[in-house]
Amino acid sequence: MQTNLADFIKNTAEGQEADEILRSCVHCGFCLAVCPTYQLLGDELDSPRGRIYLMKQVLEGAPVTEKTQLHLDRCLTCRACETVCPSGVHYGRLVDIGRGIVEKKVGRRLVDGSMRYALRQTLARPGVVGALMKLGRFTRPLLPGGLKNSVSLLKHETSSRESGAAWPPLRHNRRMLVLEGCVQPALAPQINASAARVFDRLGISLIKAPDAGCCGALAYHLNAQQEGMDYMRRNVDAWWPYVQPGGQVEAIVMTASGCGVTVKEYGHLLRHDTAYAEKAARISELTRDISEVLEAEAQKLALLLDSLPKRKKGVRLAFHSPCTLQHGMRIRGVVEKILVSAGFQLTDVPDAHLCCGSAGTYSILQPELSQQLLKNKVTALQSGDPERIATANIGCLMHIRSGAKLPVAHWIEILDEKLGDMEEQAHNRA
Ligand code: SF4
Ligand code: SF4
Repeated sequence: MQTNLADFIKNTAEGQEADEILRSCVHCGFCLAVCPTYQLLGDELDSPRGRIYLMKQVLEGAPVTEKTQLHLDRCLTCRACETVCPSGVHYGRLVDIGRGIVEKKVGRRLVDGSMRYALRQTLARPGVVGALMKLGRFTRPLLPGGLKNSVSLLKHETSSRESGAAWPPLRHNRRMLVLEGCVQPALAPQINASAARVFDRLGISLIKAPDAGCCGALAYHLNAQQEGMDYMRRNVDAWWPYVQPGGQVEAIVMTASGCGVTVKEYGHLLRHDTAYAEKAARISELTRDISEVLEAEAQKLALLLDSLPKRKKGVRLAFHSPCTLQHGMRIRGVVEKILVSAGFQLTDVPDAHLCCGSAGTYSILQPELSQQLLKNKVTALQSGDPERIATANIGCLMHIRSGAKLPVAHWIEILDEKLGDMEEQAHNRA
């Protein structure tokens, strides 16, 4: 695609990056078939190619309207379009840049702007999320639709999170850091505890850096990009003592794929920050989704599983691979392989490439589209008659749980539970 960027942007780092991305698009339209919003709305301007065209116009200095902003807001940033693009267009980066520019040009209406500000100030802070969990049950009737749905899950979360959050003692020489994140420690601390127990069985101790927190994705994708990068710098500072040469950890593990995809991009996002560029690149290099670590430890996991008694029939699971896992990090089939090796039966899930509609704060900001996607996803997940649903990201987990009849959990919780049951059986037999 030929471009002619306007003076306000052409000599900036963002402008040059956007220009390169725009030029790589060849208009073929392969991406349209996998775009969830194009499937629902049927409007080219709600497709990747249409949005790329809109962003080209913005970057070339054409007038920007709220309508342009609406089409960009409706994008889930699911990056399914990147997966199928034959030209390797980095759509996710382009839409982040494009949204930031559009926001500066047209601003936000008071209600929309205030809602976005409130989301950044609350969801990125675990203490505030915890307090909201307690308040939520009383304030729920006063909240708008999307938030009301989220708060309705809190009752369930409180009961499930209180069990299974115990960590094993720190006893192995092999150590890895794990990110706690923002909403996960308040809503589901048992996920990281399960990860710590599974790793402990494999001879690895998981540790937390007390000052690390939100990965920055929430603010960054809500167009508060400097605020998002401040969260990133804070995590770099919190992790650096552990990962610098001679440090004690060999990897930084992510149990939420939404955080993993962002931390893996710290090196790119902070590359122009002279104080942080090198450290951020090192952090990204050491970052692993939890499935990547278990894939590397597959032999040990197989030995452990072989040493334990098996059930004749494995539990039937439907796995929802979050967009951040399959499209963002391009990790496909790894979790599924681990679950099958542990004896689970995976059921077929049609249209597994499609987003569930959670997409960070999308379920709150675009409730109607989000609910349609949720309905379709739940139907697809339940169509193979599974007993449980597994996923790999806290946002997807809560969102799918709000619409599914079946129990929904992080896959590492399900694996930990299974290993625990097998160990108990072995103990009873002895
Ligand atoms: S598939 Fe890639 S190259 Fe083709 S229109 Fe979509 S973004 Fe452009
Ligand atoms: S990121 Fe997802 S919703 Fe956005 S244009 Fe690409 S496929 Fe469509």
